[in-house]
Amino acid sequence: MAVLTTQPLDRLLDYRAPEGGCFLGAYVEVPLGPRKVLGVVWGPGAGDFDSSKLRSVTRVLDVAPMRSEMRAFLGKAADYTLTPMPAMLRLASRAPGLSDPPSMRKILRRGDQEPDRLTDARARVLDAMEEFGGLAFTAKELADMAGVTPSVVKGLVKQGALREEETPRDLPYPNLDPDLPGKALTDDQAAAAAALEEGVKSGAYGTTLLKGVTGSGKTEVYLEAVAAALRAGRQALVLLPEIALTAEFLKRVEARFGATPAEWHSGATMTERRRVWRMVGQGKAQLVIGARSALFLPYRNLGLIIVDEEHDTSYKQEDGVLYNARDMAVLRAAMCSAQVVLASATPSLETWANADAGKYKRLDLTSRFGASVLPEMRAVDMRAEDLLPSTWISPTLKYAMKARLERGEQSLLFLNRRGFAPVTICRACGAQVACDQCDSRMVEHRFLKRLMCHQCGETKPVPEVCPSCQVEGKMAPVGPGIERLGEEAAALFPEARIAVLSSDLFGSARALKQRIEEIAAGEADIILGTQLVAKGHNFPLLTLVGVIDADLGLQGSDLRAAERTFQLMRQVAGRAGRAEKPGEALLQTFQPEHPVIRAILSGDEEAFWKAEAAERQAAGVPPFGRMAGIILSGSDLAQVFDLGETLARNDGALRQIGAQLFGPAPAPIARVRGRHRVRLLVKVAKGAPLQEAIARWIAPVRPKGDLRLSVDIDPQSF
Ligand code: ADP
Ligand code: ZN
Repeated sequence: MAVLTTQPLDRLLDYRAPEGGCFLGAYVEVPLGPRKVLGVVWGPGAGDFDSSKLRSVTRVLDVAPMRSEMRAFLGKAADYTLTPMPAMLRLASRAPGLSDPPSMRKILRRGDQEPDRLTDARARVLDAMEEFGGLAFTAKELADMAGVTPSVVKGLVKQGALREEETPRDLPYPNLDPDLPGKALTDDQAAAAAALEEGVKSGAYGTTLLKGVTGSGKTEVYLEAVAAALRAGRQALVLLPEIALTAEFLKRVEARFGATPAEWHSGATMTERRRVWRMVGQGKAQLVIGARSALFLPYRNLGLIIVDEEHDTSYKQEDGVLYNARDMAVLRAAMCSAQVVLASATPSLETWANADAGKYKRLDLTSRFGASVLPEMRAVDMRAEDLLPSTWISPTLKYAMKARLERGEQSLLFLNRRGFAPVTICRACGAQVACDQCDSRMVEHRFLKRLMCHQCGETKPVPEVCPSCQVEGKMAPVGPGIERLGEEAAALFPEARIAVLSSDLFGSARALKQRIEEIAAGEADIILGTQLVAKGHNFPLLTLVGVIDADLGLQGSDLRAAERTFQLMRQVAGRAGRAEKPGEALLQTFQPEHPVIRAILSGDEEAFWKAEAAERQAAGVPPFGRMAGIILSGSDLAQVFDLGETLARNDGALRQIGAQLFGPAPAPIARVRGRHRVRLLVKVAKGAPLQEAIARWIAPVRPKGDLRLSVDIDPQSF
């Protein structure tokens, strides 16, 4: 039989079936050379030669076989992203220790004997057993619950009043109850929820854009769709962009369904991941809250996928298999007749266009829930503000913060720059400190007392002597980072409690989660945050948002810059005034007349999207044309470019479909960990067979030495 393995081979391998046979899709362990590797039975063997010459499958794993719909999904995803199948299989088999059977543990059940003497302690144990009859406990857990020593429990086992039983260590998930009462929805919300529920009940594929400003109740609405899926006996998946940030979210889900759902993210322990993988496969995990790779779990009966904050750039995986979880969610749902809900306050242009073309349904929530209204947004014209050198908080913003402090409300300052200062420069010769590995500028982190490269993570001490001109004591930080802004805020408001929220200031996701909860509970007056804070937290006391540099995202040549800035600014502003207190957002800018800034301030989204769409249409770029990037990398720049030139010269396959080719040119990230990266960009009209042409184009290329080629369909930056 033909087996797909996780090894980087471009074909299936033939093996002799194990005795007793096995299912199509079964997970197996097979010999490959001297090693044993993981694989999945993908089809019958070639059968054209003597099967006695074949090696045998060593073991059939004790997990549910991969379902045919999942195999088909992996195949389609591989075709779409031009990813080799073994890499797709690795993505779908990421539960570590998949090949180990679940570890066993001894639990206790009520035995059929009565104890000879029912002491007080023994009675307490049996009562505890009775009370939680449906659940399973180890001897220690039972002793703890009853408040007795383990010897009491052992005594009862000896007498047959309790008996031991071996079970797999995977604990079952508690049942979620879709019929617990949810919040009473407003008319708007109820109508949207009903439309989503109807989709789920249809049992067919469909995608819906659920658009609504932050705080309009999108989450409340889509949780009703989740309830409908659970009632229909189907599994649901909620994808979130930044899994570190779900403490509050999980609580909401728990409040709605009476129990915690399964969680899937890179921060989870091996044991926990393995448990989720198995339980999802058995259909026993009804609801998964996960990061993008949760799409590749082996659902038994997936009926609904929610993609929350669907526009978020972190849905695009930029390492290994390059895929966009939003698009893969739609593909996956189409293959298992599930519904997709794309939720956002500021949808991506792609989704906007699909809704416009009628491919997606669209539901709108127009007002914020309850008394809360969107904050009033104003530009602070930085050309007219008096600032001391190396300070970034304008007098206007400072007075607004002072007023909040006096009223016991919170202010949030947003600056999308980690570290203390983005540049370290020599005041004698003007040289900047760059990373030895990536050429990118090193960023000073006071907290670490070092410079750090944000591309590869390399760190080094701030040099005493300029590496360029050898003059001593002239290295100085230039520009603001979130840590430096924290110092400025502390100097302005020495009495305030200041919290700096930047991913690198916290050792773990858990520590960060906890800090966010403390802040939400009011344990800070001024919050300073990077992009991290833009996403989905409720800070009920927050009434002022100050954007330190609204122009930041507008620089650079990325065609998506306007879209990103618009989304980010709207989202950050949406943090203020969530409860009953009205909020205010101040955008510090040097170009208040810029069309994007004006669109943000006026809140006229439709106008912004229309203008942006017109520009993209004229340029023939996504979502109105299609693009793909070919990234070439290697340690020798000349060789990498040579390969690029060779590809560019042999572009017949591309010309056949009328595609345009740009490059080779340095990739947006031109050097990473000592490897040079060069990119070729392909642009073609919608509907052209892009993947097929690219596959033919790159097929003859066999990168030599440490050269690598990867394909990036629908690149994020172009
Ligand atoms: P979004 O997902 O659009 O940002 P949420 O669903 O998080 O909005 O709602 C914002 C806040 O308003 C939450 O605290 C939520 O519990 C509350 N809320 C929304 N709708 C209702 C409702 N119908 N009844 C009670 N509270 C609601
Ligand atoms: Zn680096």
